[in-house]
Amino acid sequence: MIIFQNVTVKYPYGNLALNDVSFEIADNEFVYLVGPSGAGKTTILRLLLREITPASGQVTLDNEEISSKKFHDLTTLRQKIGIVFQDFRVLNDKNVYENVALSMRIKGYAASEIKSQVVEALELTGIEDKIFMFPSQLSAGELQRVAIARAIVGERSILLADEPTGNLDPKTTWDVMKIFKKLEKKRTILFATHNTDIVNSMQRRVIVVKNGAIVKDQRKGKYEL
Ligand code: ADP
Repeated sequence: MIIFQNVTVKYPYGNLALNDVSFEIADNEFVYLVGPSGAGKTTILRLLLREITPASGQVTLDNEEISSKKFHDLTTLRQKIGIVFQDFRVLNDKNVYENVALSMRIKGYAASEIKSQVVEALELTGIEDKIFMFPSQLSAGELQRVAIARAIVGERSILLADEPTGNLDPKTTWDVMKIFKKLEKKRTILFATHNTDIVNSMQRRVIVVKNGAIVKDQRKGKYEL
């Protein structure tokens, strides 16, 4: 469970990026985070990754307050969370298998377990036939599938997505959304997007952020700023 309690964020030299934001997300919930550029969506994701800490308020993940100095075990936190970005951020000098396997290798999983989870993730994302290809040989849609596979191996319970369809054409966008639909039953998904069509078609919870505040939070919502 994710809980934001009266969270305020101020970047150095910036205005308030978030101002007294509170919300809760239950396990295995799918939530769209929408709002204009600069609204504070990425800041919410960065707080969960603990790349930044709030000026005031608390961010709690599975009963652990992660925003304060009390939270020492960042490794445990990172192991729970996978993230997908608009610009894929795959490693160009590693093939598909190695890109997806890397985080599990770092965590010290056995080779057989890595292999079985990586192959399963590549089957789920539909790129098992690209396993030994390098990023330069892949299309944008395939690169995003690699990034999604990388974000789900290693028993992660939370998937964050920051404009994951922003660099994809409409057909590829829908293909990628089918993957998110397959994933949603088994993990919490927080999906920041500007894409009105996917938000409106999927009818999940929609949290609207504007000027650092939540202005709307609806179950089965639509993209309405
Ligand atoms: P969104 O993801 O909705 O586009 P962000 O969370 O990236 O919005 O940004 C929220 C606000 O914080 C914006 O006003 C943005 O300019 C500001 N901001 C974001 N990152 C930084 C930073 N590293 N330093 C200063 N200000 C920042």
